[in-house]
Amino acid sequence: MPEIHLLSGGTLLPDWSGAGSVADGAVAWSGETILAVGPREELERRHPDAVRHQARGGWIAPGLINAHHHIYSALATGLDPGLTIDGFGQCLDRLWWRLDRAHDEASIRQSARLTSLRCALAGCTTLVDHHASPACIEGSLDWLAEELETAGLSALLCYEATDRNGHAGALAGLRESRRFRDSVRANGRFRGLLGLHAAFTLGDDTLAAAARLAEDGGIHVHVAEDRLDGEICRGRDGQGPLERLESAGLLGAASWIAHGTHLDEAGLDLLARRGALLVHNPESNANTQVGRLDLRAVRRAGVDVALGTDGMSSCLLSALRCAFLLHRQGEGDSAGGWQDCTGLLEGARQRLARLFGQPAYGQLVAGAPADLIVLDMPAAPPPTAGNLIAQLVFGQVPPRVRHTVARGRWLVDHFEACGLDPHRLAAEIRPVREVLWLRFHKLGAGTSYLGPEPGAAGGRPE
Ligand SMILES: [Zn+2]
Repeated sequence: MPEIHLLSGGTLLPDWSGAGSVADGAVAWSGETILAVGPREELERRHPDAVRHQARGGWIAPGLINAHHHIYSALATGLDPGLTIDGFGQCLDRLWWRLDRAHDEASIRQSARLTSLRCALAGCTTLVDHHASPACIEGSLDWLAEELETAGLSALLCYEATDRNGHAGALAGLRESRRFRDSVRANGRFRGLLGLHAAFTLGDDTLAAAARLAEDGGIHVHVAEDRLDGEICRGRDGQGPLERLESAGLLGAASWIAHGTHLDEAGLDLLARRGALLVHNPESNANTQVGRLDLRAVRRAGVDVALGTDGMSSCLLSALRCAFLLHRQGEGDSAGGWQDCTGLLEGARQRLARLFGQPAYGQLVAGAPADLIVLDMPAAPPPTAGNLIAQLVFGQVPPRVRHTVARGRWLVDHFEACGLDPHRLAAEIRPVREVLWLRFHKLGAGTSYLGPEPGAAGGRPE
């Protein structure tokens, strides 16, 4: 039997609800699985020979789950697109749809390594990624999985199919998602979904092909992130983006819907009835100025909601703070907002539990995967369901991650990355990034998928 590890000396949070914390708690694990959690004295008595680790007064909590990420954006930090960007359409066309086309295997692998390091340092042990690399689709999800596995992380992956590079490219994207999904059904660390970019870049034939492959609506797709999605979809046949997915039979309990910023009451009600998950990406919404997700309306409609970073960073706790502040500002509510943000860190847990066949995924309980972190929370009062959000957004911001342990493996030890070496990684990334940026600048913008540029004859309104 592998040796037993025991982490103690802090406050134990069995999940991210804030309820049920144990003041002087501990967690014991062996191999990739948690053996026991509870009061320190009890676990020390039960496991006297365990290898001991110290939380130094921090919060011992489940590893964070980033419910919507884009690894392919990792090397874009500092990239000057060389063109002005005005609005969401140009942001896609002049930045992200050039970057994804510029990727090759080397740049995808390095993006995954850098994202893994950032995730580990930010306490994230599972990420849900939405990948695009139109010049090299086949096998790209394997490259991501190999790098993430080497780094110690777990993930739910998909390739975002789109017609914007031609229908053959869309079908290749669907094939890649299906291939990967089917290849990891028995894998302990990875699962796959069918990926779709967004309804406005998907033709009816592609949606029909996706519907033949999806299982229980098992898609990961951007919906109504900006008004553009609705305008372009309705301009074609009168149907909005969510209606198009619904008409194609693509909405179900396994659907993973990113953004939803411009969904109306009927759209939110449909998501609730289908049991789909909505992923809130507040930092990204603010950055692209697409609008604000009305979290209160989402809650009122009974939609399950989780939190993602949408490639903006890998720090979920920064995204939580942004979600809270934007929510308060938007509601004009200077005292409330806690309830609407409570549960954002837990929103994806049950879906992943189902997908991985691990009933306690994302929780610190016996039998769950040993994914855990320690947050430094100097002089913090005991966490409760009522004060958890306040402590995470007003206290030590963002809380420093002392330890990250993923499937029993130490990724961050007393604030230092112990898997990937940041200095070696920087040296590896530099030449790959230079080549990626050169390819990026050689690629033109002005994709026909958005229609002619604003102001051109027959073009979109400005
Ligand atoms: Zn996204």
